[in-house]
Amino acid sequence: MRAPQSRTKEGTVTMTSSEELHKRRGAAVARGVGSTISAYVERAGGGTIVDVEGREWIDFAAGIAVANVGNSAPRVVEAVKAQVERFTHTCFMVAPYESYVAVCEQLNALTPGSFEKRSALFNSGAEAVENAVKIARHATGRPAVVVFDHAYHGRTNLTMALTAKNMPYKHRFGPFAGEVYRVPMSYPLRDGGLSGAAAAATAIEMIEKQVGAENVAALLIEPIQGEGGFVVPAEGFLPALREWATAAGVVFVADEIQTGFCRTGDWFACQHEGVEPDLVTLAKGIAGGLPLAAVTGRAELMDAVHVGGLGGTYGGNPIACAAALASIETMHELDLAAAARRIGQVMGDRLRAIAARDPRIAEVRGRGAMLAVELVQPGTLTPDPAATAAVSAACHAAGLLTLTCGTYGNVLRFLPPLVISDDELARGLDILDAAFG
Ligand SMILES: *Cc1c(COP(=O)(O)O)cnc(C)c1O
Repeated sequence: MRAPQSRTKEGTVTMTSSEELHKRRGAAVARGVGSTISAYVERAGGGTIVDVEGREWIDFAAGIAVANVGNSAPRVVEAVKAQVERFTHTCFMVAPYESYVAVCEQLNALTPGSFEKRSALFNSGAEAVENAVKIARHATGRPAVVVFDHAYHGRTNLTMALTAKNMPYKHRFGPFAGEVYRVPMSYPLRDGGLSGAAAAATAIEMIEKQVGAENVAALLIEPIQGEGGFVVPAEGFLPALREWATAAGVVFVADEIQTGFCRTGDWFACQHEGVEPDLVTLAKGIAGGLPLAAVTGRAELMDAVHVGGLGGTYGGNPIACAAALASIETMHELDLAAAARRIGQVMGDRLRAIAARDPRIAEVRGRGAMLAVELVQPGTLTPDPAATAAVSAACHAAGLLTLTCGTYGNVLRFLPPLVISDDELARGLDILDAAFG
């Protein structure tokens, strides 16, 4: 590995320590931007991250489900290099280019539903969600958006309103956008194990009584919740909501920003139950780490918006589009959906073995390479965020990068790059196993 170095004013070469970087950060970077670990990255690839001091971390985060094809995936690097030498930005709204069109063609073909589709490209997941709401409102002429308990949809003003959790996402950042209504999520561990159909009936009754179906533009849902705790709804919940939305003329929007691009063992999580959303929001895993997002969906909804009504300066930037095309090719070539299923099998077996001996684990859940454990005080459903933080800290100290999530901060989640090697996966799981004690 190349030694991490920085040049001092005198021209002598010195190591840049994490401590030194931490000091500079404190003086330069706003405190509101946090980090999971205090190490600074030098390079990353496969399932490993190397910090500036040469320490190695097994990566169970993938930059929050972004580096599905791995960091600096060879095809992505090649495509980005080639594009950056041709042109870097003309703005698709000013002077268009092929790669934007090609990404839209790919998304239209890959997302669930055999109907005619269109796509529009943006920069971030939050921006995609905002645009999905704009499109649904415009196409239906209705104002209301229905979201769920524990939902996470972003940090902009509208998406903060759509997101459930106050701390840290919303606290003192209001007032928030209006016409957002929240209904209960199917959460088998915490709703008494309601069937998907029964949980959907509860949510639908609340919508009909409190909002009125004819006022609802969009029903927005993560097929498996991300930041909210990797909550997997009971079988039948999504199909029942899909059916109701069709009957009520409500646009069914699947937020697949975290679940998409092979993460759950299918290209998209909705495919598991054969649910075909009207609109899908995409980001995170789409472009191998470059900032890109999309709304893909029914042509008649997408094309309802007047010319010039959708866009943004950087949306569908040519370098990000080149990266997306290379990432999608990599997912096909390496069959990363199958890789996610394999990771899920190995990791799931290990997590269930840990859960069998550790009464703090109330549930192992998730799908494919999107797995989590929820920690409680033994024998109860009382969340235990302290134990979660302690296990997490033990993982970090031993060289495994894990993330937490959940409304109660009591869920440890695992999102390895889908190209992680068997050896890296096994070493990561050994660290995790030891961290539970
Ligand atoms: C991360 C995420 C978002 C927001 O994406 P950003 O790119 O951070 O704006 C929205 N929805 C879901 C489900 C997410 O996981």
